[in-house]
Amino acid sequence: MKLSWKTLLLLSLPIIVIGFFLWQGFLAPTTNELNTNIARSRMTYGRFLEYLDMGWIKKVDLYDNGHTAIVEAVGPELGNRIQKIRVELPATVPELIVKLKKANIDLDAHPTKNTSAIWNLIGNLLFPILLILGLAFLFRRSNSSSGGPGQAMSFSKSKALFQMEAKTGIVFNDVAGIDEAKEEFEEVVTFLKKPERFTAVGAKIPKGVLLIGPPGTGKTLLAKAIAGEANVPFFSISGSEFVEMFVGVGASRVRDLFKKAKENAPCIVFIDEIDAVGRQRGTGIGGGNDEREQTLNQLLTEMDGFEGNTGVIVIAATNRADILDSALLRPGRFDRQVSVEIPDFKGRLDILKVHAKNKKMDTGISLSIIARRTPGFSGADLANLLNEAAILTARRRKKYITLNEIDASIDRIVAGMEGTALTDSKSKRLIAYHEIGHAIVGTLLKDHDPVQKVTLIPRGQAKGLTWFTPGEDQNLISRSQILSRIMGALGGRAAEEVVFGDTEVTTGASNDLQQVTSMARQMVTRFGMSNIGPLCLENEESNPFLGRSMGSASEYSDEIAIKIDKQIYQIVEKCYQETVKIIQDNRIIIDRLVDLLIERETIDGKEFKEIINEYTPVPEKEKEVYII
Ligand code: ADP
Ligand code: MG
Ligand code: ZN
Repeated sequence: MKLSWKTLLLLSLPIIVIGFFLWQGFLAPTTNELNTNIARSRMTYGRFLEYLDMGWIKKVDLYDNGHTAIVEAVGPELGNRIQKIRVELPATVPELIVKLKKANIDLDAHPTKNTSAIWNLIGNLLFPILLILGLAFLFRRSNSSSGGPGQAMSFSKSKALFQMEAKTGIVFNDVAGIDEAKEEFEEVVTFLKKPERFTAVGAKIPKGVLLIGPPGTGKTLLAKAIAGEANVPFFSISGSEFVEMFVGVGASRVRDLFKKAKENAPCIVFIDEIDAVGRQRGTGIGGGNDEREQTLNQLLTEMDGFEGNTGVIVIAATNRADILDSALLRPGRFDRQVSVEIPDFKGRLDILKVHAKNKKMDTGISLSIIARRTPGFSGADLANLLNEAAILTARRRKKYITLNEIDASIDRIVAGMEGTALTDSKSKRLIAYHEIGHAIVGTLLKDHDPVQKVTLIPRGQAKGLTWFTPGEDQNLISRSQILSRIMGALGGRAAEEVVFGDTEVTTGASNDLQQVTSMARQMVTRFGMSNIGPLCLENEESNPFLGRSMGSASEYSDEIAIKIDKQIYQIVEKCYQETVKIIQDNRIIIDRLVDLLIERETIDGKEFKEIINEYTPVPEKEKEVYII
């Protein structure tokens, strides 16, 4: 963005104002002192002399070359309280001084610098002068740049609020793991490079492509890659930048953007977060947003206004296609929709390969192990992971990134910063039992994910942590798996209760219980896994503030609501009993593991399993990968 003089001036105004006050503060101290000392009441010179005779004056401070005095007086007329009173003196009267001295009154004179009056004057004048100059400057500039007087002071005129990159320098090879989306876009590149091929047979080139996907999956990257591959300029703006305080600004920005784009065709116009403007009109709670609607209308008009063949292709990105205005999705606008998903194992591996290229990795490192340990990570998360690991490596003054740094970075990204280990032995013991409780229940249940490691080193909000290796990107989860997860999550509380007794259980399980309740509730209301039967009673969480999906609050009767609650209760209750039993049956192993954990602070999954195996057989699980 180029800073115009106008913006510079606007920016500097507050500095000038602040400067003025500082000036006042530093350069005119004597006046200030006098001003702050100003006694609320005044008295005449004559009265002052009377007071003096009565002995009611306690202190006299002379200011202003002896023209003003602030006196401290006390007396019955003043309610017997010391009060500060201002007196204007005719001049410094020598007799007065003598008199004051005689009466033994505290006397002090505060000289006023001669120059201060001038400084004061300049200080006071400077600010208005600058202001006037500034305003004149603004007027002059806007008049000369845009002819008509109506255009003067048009703050709404957008100045380069979109970015333009002549060359993005990003190619398809930089984008990995989202192959379907990439394929779709290879065609778009051909539209831009060889439009004749399509127009020759009468095909209309699409104007808009909507990219839908969660944050960090590479939508912006992909849009840039198209521009890079096709070697065309890339204009971008974020939807939130359209929505401004002033009505009409958004619409004018849209106009400007398209004007510039058409001048530079063929090119890509990228609108990020289009949901900020493109939200379904007229459903907002608390009244619509005129500004947003105007902007959206302008956008629609612009998109209708140019022919597909002009070479401008609009790519918009959102993570919430469900709330977009249907007018946007009509043919002739964003009629192509491409979804970008969180990458699966292979996708993660490919993304890791892209980002590992410029990193110095230890030769023994296998990217597939990292990919295994990071289900649910987006492309941005993975890029961040490798970068964190590299930073950690540098901090440890190592030459190559090893699995150790990768592991620490994963933990940090997932669970937050590492804290210092507890020293309080009683709560440390309790936390150790809690974590071992999770870990042992998880290990002994066949359908539970295997334990990755157990640790007492706090991270983020958690005082201790049990890590499980999540199964690979499961879309289908069986009932038995959900029940196992519920039991695993209950393992912490169950261990606390069995070992320390009913009265000693702690709040440490609150997060676990929240998960337990949510899982049980979903079993009943969404997955049809209870006695109520295969009914879907609740939809995925929908936020009524975000658009269309309103009024789906309760789709069942009160009677069903009671049944739901009962079922949830039954599921959790039964799971809890089974969990407690597992803990009781394995008390000896648990005690031994707790001692080991307190001594070492971390036990890795492999060793954990081996120890348990000495006492009781551990069921074999799929995909046991241990990172260290
Ligand atoms: P989005 O726009 O979907 O929120 P970005 O495109 O801004 O995500 O992604 C942020 C960063 O994450 C990218 O600059 C890139 O480094 C990395 N990244 C995300 N997805 C991918 C991917 N599929 N392949 C390679 N890098 C990716
Ligand atoms: Mg983005
Ligand atoms: Zn817990």
